[in-house]
Order: sequence, then structure tokens, then C-alpha cells
Amino acid sequence: MKKPILVGTIVIVAILIGISAIFVQNNDDAKINDIENPDSYSEKIAITTTTNVITDLVENIGGDHVSVTGLMGPGIDPHLYRPSASDVKSLQNADIIFYNGLDLEGKMGDIFVKIGREGTSVLAVSENIPPESLLILDANGNFDPHIWWDVELWTEAAKVVATGLKEYDPNNSENYEKNLLEYLNQLDSLNSNNLNKINSIPSEQRVLVTAHDAFQYFGHTYGFEELAIQGWSTDSEAGIKEIQNLADEISKRKIKALFVETSISPATIEALKAAVQDKGHDIVIGGELFSDAIGEKGTAEGTYIGAFTHNIDTIVKALK
Ligand SMILES: [Zn+2]
Repeated sequence: MKKPILVGTIVIVAILIGISAIFVQNNDDAKINDIENPDSYSEKIAITTTTNVITDLVENIGGDHVSVTGLMGPGIDPHLYRPSASDVKSLQNADIIFYNGLDLEGKMGDIFVKIGREGTSVLAVSENIPPESLLILDANGNFDPHIWWDVELWTEAAKVVATGLKEYDPNNSENYEKNLLEYLNQLDSLNSNNLNKINSIPSEQRVLVTAHDAFQYFGHTYGFEELAIQGWSTDSEAGIKEIQNLADEISKRKIKALFVETSISPATIEALKAAVQDKGHDIVIGGELFSDAIGEKGTAEGTYIGAFTHNIDTIVKALK
């Protein structure tokens, strides 16, 4: 009985030596490649994100350890976004993909499933938010995806990003945890600053009229009623009847201002403004709000905190 075991052991050892030799060879090849072409080598984790709100979040938590490719820049509407061939490549080459989920990226669901099956970590930043904290929007039980306009829900999104990074790169866990705590502190200050500013708007004037329903969480947190021409997704045409009905309500209630969104054509809000004025109520466009995308990178509004502050200041100025 011993002899066959010994032969078996020798065979296994021989195979293992063979495999290690192949690994050493491959490693050496990789190193030679890196020296010859330093650009091909990066220790950073390659991350692909969808909206620039998520890009900003991942960059804050990942810091120097990540290289983030965001598919959607400023002014891009995620509800209607269809990925290009180069987007699909970027998704396939990513170490981790972070997306919003809750059907925000309505045309991309199949790609996330496919790439997830191929072994890449594909994480929805909304995945840990308990259903009782989400707003239900319609009879089909769809949840509102615009979670980033509630700072507390965005805190949960930040934790998902930190956990995803720690699992992928445990050696830098402490660093991700430190970045997370620093960022959560900043979010906390943002929320208290927002609350202080909003207090200057009398509660009966807290009505936000926008093109699409992106601010339900915002309204829920800060006591605003939201009146939108379109529903929660931009994937439907706003009809003349909807605009007329809304114009009636706005003139009856003497609402002071309407708001344009950066990721949606201003045409529907301009049509609404004209319809309200036809009814004899003088209304203004109170400014432009960031809804489904934040601003240009490198500007104050190119961060989530900067864009949120811009929105609050614009709303307070128009409605107080
Ligand atoms: Zn939206």
C-alpha cells in the first residue's frame, strides 16, 4: 500500500514543480514587459463607474489606490444612457464596477449581469439600503433611484464602496477605512449646513417644481413637496395635458419659481413657464439644479458636496 502512495506523491510533487516553473516564467515575462513599457503597469485598481456622482464617491474613498473611468459625464441623463462599444470595453476591463442600481441605469442592466457572470465585482452602491428607507414610486413597486439627494442614504453608498475596495484590496483596508471616515464627516457637515440654509424658507413655500422627479428624497429629508412634469424616469414624453394641469396648480398656489435640471433639456420647463404666465401668474426660472449628474470635474460643482451646496443655495435664493 505504501509504494503506490509514494509513486503518487512523486507524481504530484513533479506536477507542482512544473506549475511553479510556469508561474515564475510568466511573472518574469510580466516584469520584463513592465520595464519595457512602464505605462502598461499600474498598481491602481481599475474601476468603472456609471454616473459622475458615483465617480466622485469612488475617488473620495479610493484615493490614490484607484483609477476611475466614469462613463457618464456632466449633463448626461442615466435613464436613457446606452453604453457605446468603448464603454463596454471599459466595463469588461474593470477590476470593480460601481453603479447606482434601482434601475437608474435602465438600459444597462443586461450588461451588468453579463459582466458579473464573467467574474468581475459588479456592485450597486444602493445595495445595502433597507427597503423601508427607499421611496416607492408607482403601483409596480418601483423604488426611486435618486438616493444621492438624501445625504444619509449616500452615506450607505459610501460604505458599499469602502467594503468593495477592502475586499478587493485587503492590504490597503486601513486606508479605505480612513478615507471613508473622513468623507462621512464631510457628509455630516454638508447635511447640517443644508438644514441651516433651508430653515430660511417658510414651510408653505417649500415646493420644488422640476422637469423630472429627481428630488423626492431631497423633499422627504428637507420638507419639500416636489411637483415634476415627468415621473421618476425621463423615459417618457411629457404631454401637453400634464403641463396644463401643473400650470393650473402653480398659478393657484402662487409658487414663485421653477427649476431647470442640468441633465435634461430646458424645453419642458420653458413650456411650463409660458403656460403659467398665460394664466396670469408671474413665475421665474429660479436657476439650474444638478439632478442626475453633477458638474464638470475641476469646478466647485464637480463634486457631490459642491453640487449639493449649489442646489441648496439656488433653491434658497429663489424660494425664500
Ligand atoms: Zn433621474
